[in-house]
Amino acid sequence: MVSGNSRTIGIDLGGTGISFIDMYSPDNVIQRMHIETPSTRGEIVSALKTAALRFLETPGHPAPSGIGVAVAGQVGHAGKSVVFSPNLPFKTEYALGMELEKEFGIPVSLENDANAAAFGERVFGMAKGMDDFIVITLGTGIGAGIFANGKLVCGHTGSGGEAGHMVILPEGPLCGCGNKGCLEALASGTAIARSFREKTGIEKSAKEVCGLARDGDAAARAVLRAAGDYLGYGLVNLVNLFGPQAVFFTGSLSNAPDDYFVPALRRVRERSFGTAGKDVVLKVSPLASEVGVIGAAALPLLR
Ligand SMILES: [Zn+2]
Repeated sequence: MVSGNSRTIGIDLGGTGISFIDMYSPDNVIQRMHIETPSTRGEIVSALKTAALRFLETPGHPAPSGIGVAVAGQVGHAGKSVVFSPNLPFKTEYALGMELEKEFGIPVSLENDANAAAFGERVFGMAKGMDDFIVITLGTGIGAGIFANGKLVCGHTGSGGEAGHMVILPEGPLCGCGNKGCLEALASGTAIARSFREKTGIEKSAKEVCGLARDGDAAARAVLRAAGDYLGYGLVNLVNLFGPQAVFFTGSLSNAPDDYFVPALRRVRERSFGTAGKDVVLKVSPLASEVGVIGAAALPLLR
């Protein structure tokens, strides 16, 4: 599909941080950079331009074939604009891709971050050669990039494949999207922190709850098991719908303790339809925390 040897620049634009990578491949990286996400749209755009210019002026390398940007939000169909982001100051459509293209004279492609992670896995990771697989990002929220029959599922409006917003418990807790009982409201980092607070009255982050569970704290372990169970039902639905060869996990919760993953994986084996859940590979992405920015760097190779 792609050689993977061309130089590209990847930018992962997240709600709290922006990661940059300038690379030929994940094994042949020219430079990396990470900054905190500025608070206004203007400052973000200017930070992206400053970093891109610095990379483009690096001596001793051919010009990159393009810039890919993974955005924590919805991206326009042509991959040139940010339509909306809940966690970034992009509340109305903004032609970020066009602006960067005009500034630097090289192709710029935008993609939703969960979808970019799936491209990263397909071009550079364990999904090489797979036509049917899913990458699930488990963090503050839950995102998914779904490949079915060799194509990314994006639906009629571009917002398809939002596995984090499958309704798992109709009268369940309120989700950030406004609906009730979404997978994200039951099994994400935010959900874990909320359940722990409801159970104990103590305010802890999901990362801290994971730490407590590793130390044997009964309440933390119970909260993680319940969240993992819900994750399992979400996975059963995905496995039944798409029959993937593999599901890869990424995001900050992908190193959560067994209390979270064991019930999730057990549900897939026990409750999936027919043979779909028997052989599906369920694994943490080996690209792990870098899959977003590596996926961004893969985007120019695809278009
Ligand atoms: Zn939701």
